[in-house]
Amino acid sequence: MIIKKLKVVTVLDRIEVIQGDITTLTVDAITNAANSSLLGGGGVDGAIHKAAGPSLLEECRKLNGCHTGEAKITAGYKLPAKWVIHTVGPVWQGGNHNEDELLARCYRNSLTLAEERGITTIAFPAISTGIYRFPLGRATKIAVTETWNFLRKNNTIDKVFFVCFGDSICQSYWTVIREILGEEEK
Ligand code: ADP
Repeated sequence: MIIKKLKVVTVLDRIEVIQGDITTLTVDAITNAANSSLLGGGGVDGAIHKAAGPSLLEECRKLNGCHTGEAKITAGYKLPAKWVIHTVGPVWQGGNHNEDELLARCYRNSLTLAEERGITTIAFPAISTGIYRFPLGRATKIAVTETWNFLRKNNTIDKVFFVCFGDSICQSYWTVIREILGEEEK
């Protein structure tokens, strides 16, 4: 007979790196790497709008855009995900234009918004690493570090998925996660 069960859930158990198309995921929220107009664009933004249908754009029009590093939320419409969190990553300009901090804010603000809405599962694409040309290794390090620090202090989010559109992105996340684990064990 089990009298007491202690479930030890570490931060690592709450992070998953998966390869695929973020628009197909059945999670509470997917994050969109949007542009500041929030009126749709290429890359993951285009894919999300296409899959969600025109009602998403209608709701986005009412949001008056979004500043770089900030995040806004809409419904998911035809997506399997209930919500879309739109965040605007920085355009890479060589690294001396506050790009690191602005990208970190994207993750912090998206996760904070998710927590406020009681979202327990959330997926992120590798924000800014496409059209905005942020170096991949540097971007995934920021994504994982910010998420790790957030999950350590907050318990409402059960799972964060880093969704990779290709092998090299997955590899990059795993390298960073191994590095962080190594640091934690020291
Ligand atoms: P940004 O303008 O922020 O760079 P992009 O959409 O160009 O945004 O790219 C961000 C990341 O999203 C890139 O790593 C790209 O490979 C990835 N991506 C593009 N489409 C999808 C998708 N359907 N699902 C998941 N990731 C995607």
